[in-house]
Amino acid sequence: MTSFSRTIARLLFVLLIALYLDAQGPTSASAPKPTDDEATLRAFAAIHPIDVHVHIFKTDPAFQKMLERLNLKVMDILVMDDTNHNRKQLQPQINDALGLVRSSGGHIALCTTFDPYKFDNASFAADAIKQLDRDFANGALAVKLWKNVGMEIKDKNGQYILADDPKFEPIYKDIAAHGKTLMTHQAEPDVAWGPPDAADPSWSYYQENPQWYVAHRPGFPSKQKILDARDHVLANNPKLRIVGVHLGSMERSLENIASHLDKYPNFAIDTAARMEYLMLMPPEKVSAFLIKYQDRVLYGTDLDLDPDANIPDTLTEWQSVYARDWKFLATGETLTVQGKQVHGLNLPRPVLRKIFRDNAIRWIPGL
Ligand SMILES: [Zn+2]
Repeated sequence: MTSFSRTIARLLFVLLIALYLDAQGPTSASAPKPTDDEATLRAFAAIHPIDVHVHIFKTDPAFQKMLERLNLKVMDILVMDDTNHNRKQLQPQINDALGLVRSSGGHIALCTTFDPYKFDNASFAADAIKQLDRDFANGALAVKLWKNVGMEIKDKNGQYILADDPKFEPIYKDIAAHGKTLMTHQAEPDVAWGPPDAADPSWSYYQENPQWYVAHRPGFPSKQKILDARDHVLANNPKLRIVGVHLGSMERSLENIASHLDKYPNFAIDTAARMEYLMLMPPEKVSAFLIKYQDRVLYGTDLDLDPDANIPDTLTEWQSVYARDWKFLATGETLTVQGKQVHGLNLPRPVLRKIFRDNAIRWIPGL
């Protein structure tokens, strides 16, 4: 081989290596990225947080380890949903959830529910009460009323059933008599009734779940009508603690939330799946609201762990949500939310303690 052809051969070799490496992409992309959330999660864990709103269908040693590492207690909320095969049957859900609670070493609590699809049965309320009392005896701390009341289930006359129907009253009285808490998810974000809005934090949910997008559906109850029914329950049951989950479905108006909290001393809210609405509001307004109503806001996420969930992905998601929420409420760091720069509220420590822990214990005794 001449020195010229050796040079050509070397050049070709280098070129081939370069092409090969290029085809492989940057090698660091496949390696796990070191998380900058570690310090944030340590601060979160130090407050012994309680997440009052999760949906879990199974556990796993790595999941349990995460709960322990974060000093985290979560409340698993059951719902009856006839469109979801995991949520169609009530008793198997209760049995599974009680098993999760028992195996969790105190890290998981239960919010049970009752079967609103049985609304037209003559023994509807009596059956619900019997079942709830059994669940309370087994340790359930709260009861969920889901959005299918108001937005899905119709009575035998074809009318949507609403939360203030007299048939529900004995159930509410029973929950209050046992000192338990009612978690109400009534109605949906405004955008469910409005024009499509890609900028709304909930819009992608309706693209994936069009059955809950109700704009222009003839005969469908207005959001106001559904929330008015919820308010009647608040007024009729002053001894019943009611947590309006998802910011009480008043996610666009802190003024509206504030006037409800002022009017109904038995009312509190959770932040589940609506934190982004707070993040996108003027920070000084949100700070002033959270400081004024520091005894009435419970931290919740709506995170889930589905039966077929991939555990490593789930742990990554849960921890990134906890880190994001802590950064927003507890630090002055900058976050990117829906492409916007958002500044953390840096709330005072005593307020953080209430939102992330103490309010949960006060509003949901037993947590
Ligand atoms: Zn939920």
